[in-house]
Amino acid sequence: MSVTIQSYGDCKITIKTGLFINNEFKPSVGGTVMTTPNPATGEDLATISSATAEDVDIAVSAARLAFETTWGKKSTPDQRSSLLNKWAELIEADIDSLAELESLDNGKPVWMARDVDIVDSIGCLRYYAGLADKIEGRTIEQQEGIKLAFTRAEPIGVCGQIIPWNYPIQMFMWKVAPALAAGNTIVIKPAEQTPLSALRLAELAVEAGFPPGVLNVVNGPGAVTGDAISRHMDIDKVAFTGSTVTGRKIMEAAAKSNLKKVTLELGGKSPVVVFDSVDIDQTANWVCMAILFNHGQDCCAGSRLFVQDTIKDEFLATLKKKVEQVEIGDPSVKTTFIGPLVSKQQQEKVKKYIQYGKDEGAVCLTGGEDKLADLPQKFKNGFFVPPTVYTDCKKGMKIVDDEIFGPVLAVQTFETEEEAIELANDTAYGLGAGIFSQNASQCMRMVHAIKAGTVWCNQYMVLSNAVPFGGMKQSGFGRELGIEGLKEYTQTKAVHWNYGEEIEWPLNGTNV
Ligand code: ADP
Repeated sequence: MSVTIQSYGDCKITIKTGLFINNEFKPSVGGTVMTTPNPATGEDLATISSATAEDVDIAVSAARLAFETTWGKKSTPDQRSSLLNKWAELIEADIDSLAELESLDNGKPVWMARDVDIVDSIGCLRYYAGLADKIEGRTIEQQEGIKLAFTRAEPIGVCGQIIPWNYPIQMFMWKVAPALAAGNTIVIKPAEQTPLSALRLAELAVEAGFPPGVLNVVNGPGAVTGDAISRHMDIDKVAFTGSTVTGRKIMEAAAKSNLKKVTLELGGKSPVVVFDSVDIDQTANWVCMAILFNHGQDCCAGSRLFVQDTIKDEFLATLKKKVEQVEIGDPSVKTTFIGPLVSKQQQEKVKKYIQYGKDEGAVCLTGGEDKLADLPQKFKNGFFVPPTVYTDCKKGMKIVDDEIFGPVLAVQTFETEEEAIELANDTAYGLGAGIFSQNASQCMRMVHAIKAGTVWCNQYMVLSNAVPFGGMKQSGFGRELGIEGLKEYTQTKAVHWNYGEEIEWPLNGTNV
């Protein structure tokens, strides 16, 4: 079972389309399939197997067996590290066709998939390959020469991982790399909008030499495959990235099944605060990055902009110019920054919010369908949305309160630092925030005051595999990346060891 896809270049990409279980690609037990389109053209790209609850059961059994027999209990950190490194090498060798595949399935420009997503994902694998032999417990002194205690950081077991469509390869690696480094085995479900790159990564994992059952990939719809993972009685942990609505469902399913451990990286409505001391040109560049990178389909997109009123006119004029410089269109072209959104459904959702902005009285600084007039004919049915900036926004408007997950920015102004803090924190989310100021003390005060898992000062959207990422408030809990990300895939066992203490029996108040 495989499909051959015509790439943007002149090569053809062949991928296996089955469910990946026990190092083999096989059809779903019931023969269920699903189809994924190319978002740039709206045409079907590939039909692949879709997992039912029964298929998830089979994948979990494979992962359990691997955990007990080869990976979790039998492998050494060195072996795990060298397999992760080997996998990274194979991905690197395949980077060009993998980038095309990712772009065809997701819509993001090929260069972005290659030079950002995949390069960072390879870095993520290598980072955790390097940490595999640095998983340590502690010795805790109890009584010299008599007894001691120590801790072990053990793998959790079989991990279910459910990932979103905005960074398919990167989200895959953020989840898989630390989990495998720590000795867990995996059943992962990619998003139904972007199922293809995970299948290619799985093929490369076999080539790298991972034992069967260590990594299992089950594509399928959230309500079926995802739900089966979150409810499964033999999955020890579920790690999720996606919407807050779905995160709640997963937590509930975990609570109602076997109380599996849960980590959630959820939505955001991140504030970007611009004080009047800034370099206007540079700051406008970062503000564009904050809302337009990955077409705004980013859980930490800086989608609420707060500009100090004293520089409002100059700043917004510069921002308008910069947003209008952005090239929208062909994802295969290197100068393109904005391709199509991931799906028709997402395009319709974002367009609805653009209409809400108009209806609720916000003023359109830039936007409008005419920005798409120059799209080549072959992209006329693609899921494109023009970058849109609204000013004169206020709390209570849907474009200010809701996560849109598209290139739509809501601008408000403020007078004082106190007001900026209040506005920035006035959201149920707490994933990211940006502070732009030349006053270091002001930046530090803001860092303390803002309730978010990541605060960027004078930059935005910059991540490092070594730095933890995750949310506060309703943006979730648990951290990915960094040493913290590895710790989420271990559990502590405490060991008390006696080598000299004797007790009297029967024990009572006179001899305790
Ligand atoms: P979106 O609405 O943008 O697609 P979701 O949070 O629904 O975002 O999707 C993120 C991931 O969660 C996807 O892999 C999706 O299939 C999965 N998912 C959706 N619904 C459920 C569910 N009820 N249980 C488990 N996973 C789900």
